[in-house]
Amino acid sequence: MFSSNGNGMDLSIIIPMFNEAENAEHTFIRVEESLSSLTGDYEIIAVNDGSTDNTLEVLEGIAALNKKIKIVSYPGNIGRGMALRKGFQESKGEIVVSIDADLSYDPHYIIDLIETLKEGPQIDFVLGSPYMPGGGVKNVPWLRLWISKLGNRVLRFTMPNRIYTSTGIFRAYRRKVIDSLELESDGKEIHLEILSKALALGFRVKEVPAVLSSRRKGKSKFKFKKTATSHLVFSAFEKPMIIFGFIGLMTLGIGLLMGLYVAYLRFSGGLTPGRPLITFVILLILGGIQILSFGFIALQIVSIRKEILRVQKENLELKKYITAKGSGVQGIDE
Ligand code: UDP
Ligand code: MG
Repeated sequence: MFSSNGNGMDLSIIIPMFNEAENAEHTFIRVEESLSSLTGDYEIIAVNDGSTDNTLEVLEGIAALNKKIKIVSYPGNIGRGMALRKGFQESKGEIVVSIDADLSYDPHYIIDLIETLKEGPQIDFVLGSPYMPGGGVKNVPWLRLWISKLGNRVLRFTMPNRIYTSTGIFRAYRRKVIDSLELESDGKEIHLEILSKALALGFRVKEVPAVLSSRRKGKSKFKFKKTATSHLVFSAFEKPMIIFGFIGLMTLGIGLLMGLYVAYLRFSGGLTPGRPLITFVILLILGGIQILSFGFIALQIVSIRKEILRVQKENLELKKYITAKGSGVQGIDE
């Protein structure tokens, strides 16, 4: 099933946990059950994101008995983005899977993700996707589902690659994807950040159908306002022309139409000189042109950002190379 890398670790499963004491043990059991058909070595990394319940004690108890389970923990609840980043840093697997602690996605899908990744070298990461044809949703409260579906539909047009589910945690990555990214998000927007950066770097993605269901135990940490804002900001960064282009063209269009009207009044002799309408038309036309220009500048920034991502990736590769050589900077000169 697996090809071993230098670390001898084939698969890392990362599970962020904030107040998941009730779910942790059952989740580990289900995840390990789902991996029983695999032959390679795996690790499960539980990241305690500053839980305020006894998640950490529960994790320590389980990890003392099960060598496959590793704990990463830090004080203070920062968010699932931070938890995932810490998990990625600690992970050693050639394949890295992230899944949530409440079994919103049945772990048996982990095998689907891995098998899809193994279909060929042309796939670098795989998304578990409830919103693609063949995927599904069970018992998710209707308002939450509606918001999530609408959000993903908007993102489908603003993010690259026409993806059906860009906000999900349930994914599998090849090591090289994880190693190439400098991630910054602390919250749920990390899923978009990863997509955006990985696709900008030319990594290839595939979605596979999965069923998303509502958590049975513990509380969801979903915060609507924060999530909606961060996701909208993200799509504006990704495709600035959607916002600037639309508003700019509308302003310019209205300005030009009103300009035609003013010209008509002028030639039919009905225009009172000094009428505020003339100033307004000029303002609209100039404003429209300016907003469009902002869009063009933003486009340049997006392409510069891609360039920066590539440089960051090369830096990370260089760092890895130097560390592996263990010979400091001299290693490069050789
Ligand atoms: N999570 C976390 N830190 C947080 C919020 C959530 O580590 O501040 C974890 C949580 O324990 C779960 C995953 O992120 O494993 C997804 O959170 P949740 O299931 O509450 O969100 P939803 O699935 O409802 O979007
Ligand atoms: Mg969940």
